Amino acid sequence: MPNKKVLIIGIDGGDINVFDRIGMGFLQKLRVSGIAGPIRNATSDDRGWATLLTGTDASWHGGFYWIPDRAQYAVSDSFTSQDYKSEPLWRTLSNAGLTQGYLGVPTTFPPQDIKGFFVSGGGGGKFPDLRDSVYPQSFLEENREMFEDYILDCRYRTYHDSAPSRLVNDLISATKKRTEVISGLITKYNPDLLMSVFVGPDRLQHYFWRIIFGKESERYKDLRNVIIEYYAALDRALCRLIDRFAGERNVLFVSDHGFSEYTHDLNMNLLLHDLGFAKIRRKTPLSAAASFLRKRLSRRVKHWIKSKNSVIRPRPGLKGIEWGSTQAFSNMARGVWLNTEGDYPSGVVKSHEYIQMREKIMAALTGCRNPLDGTPLFTRVINREEVYSGPLTGLAPDILIETRDCYKVTNDISLPGILTTAPAPEFGTSRLPAAMSGIHGAYGFFSAAGPDIKNSGGENAVYSAISFAPLVKKLLGIFDGDAGEFNGIIS
Ligand SMILES: [Zn+2]
Repeated sequence: MPNKKVLIIGIDGGDINVFDRIGMGFLQKLRVSGIAGPIRNATSDDRGWATLLTGTDASWHGGFYWIPDRAQYAVSDSFTSQDYKSEPLWRTLSNAGLTQGYLGVPTTFPPQDIKGFFVSGGGGGKFPDLRDSVYPQSFLEENREMFEDYILDCRYRTYHDSAPSRLVNDLISATKKRTEVISGLITKYNPDLLMSVFVGPDRLQHYFWRIIFGKESERYKDLRNVIIEYYAALDRALCRLIDRFAGERNVLFVSDHGFSEYTHDLNMNLLLHDLGFAKIRRKTPLSAAASFLRKRLSRRVKHWIKSKNSVIRPRPGLKGIEWGSTQAFSNMARGVWLNTEGDYPSGVVKSHEYIQMREKIMAALTGCRNPLDGTPLFTRVINREEVYSGPLTGLAPDILIETRDCYKVTNDISLPGILTTAPAPEFGTSRLPAAMSGIHGAYGFFSAAGPDIKNSGGENAVYSAISFAPLVKKLLGIFDGDAGEFNGIIS
């Protein structure tokens, strides 16, 4: 059984196709010396980092991106290190007496009490400062110099009014600094496991997909060059970490999900309305047209409308659904919830009708055609028990759907059609674009190199995110069981 030390480098939103299209050398290096391939979660609604850190899906750890708030039909969107309902890696390794270090892993705030050091990542709805993010506090004192200018995370919210180049430059600085700190801490403490996550690809691909790969790449060539500089900096950092550590440790690279262009909004509630399972208060064609226009108007015009106190007002998500006549609804997740009696304030589906109603809706969804090209709209329509088996399965949508990655499920019922073109972001040099042009894709990426990693000399099968934590424990020599598709990569 191997018992070498492990370095995990996470790349939030890291996607093998993106890396290949940009042409990143670290991936070539890993293909030559180790292994590389796609990885996926049980569904796109699982929080990937929580799955990678626990070896369980969201029905066990509880980290679904979207959970319906039963009182208000709204969604909650926050997940902290205290919310894990299945055992995270840091706890298992602590119990095994191993030393560990965590540096900026999303969904790990507040910091946890372990043998080693724990610097939380941002995310989970939290924007902590460095002092609140570190365990133990003495660690920060001991390494004050190393953490000077350390950037915890670059969240959009704090950059909305900034030039895109400021965000990119901060991400470049954060990447360089993080790489220095990783190397410095391994040299100084040599922990059994060190895990750190780079967040830049997720942040940039959400906002600038159309510039990186899409139809705006010619027009905004200068900004594209600035963004490509970030990928070059990341590539250099990753190559350096491989060269420095893959000789002595097993180095694993992993992402929480992949990425895709965002081309259309999929208005599931309107679809359910058309199929007869939801009732949306009818709007006059004029007000529907007005709210559609409002979404497509430039920021300046919107501001003007606001200042004129116009009647065109934002229409919050699910407002307009007549709950008393609605059997099923959707709310951002790739799925459909049934409006069950007892669970929701105006629930109408009785428990004895549940199975039959669910099957009826699934059959209707399976038959849906894409209004744009007549192909099946969903590549998969299944009930949640076909994917999930944990104690928190009830938090998942009753029906799970798969459709093209580039379709974003929206809860905005004011959109005029089932499938509407995504808003075109305005790009400029003084502000971040207000609208996203990239969204999460189903397939993330995994690769590895090191003393115990087989050299496969090419691409491999699709890995399951739930097998990642077992792989880490196996490589550390504290687990002899099954690591799924990863069993075969250990030499
Ligand atoms: Zn993201």
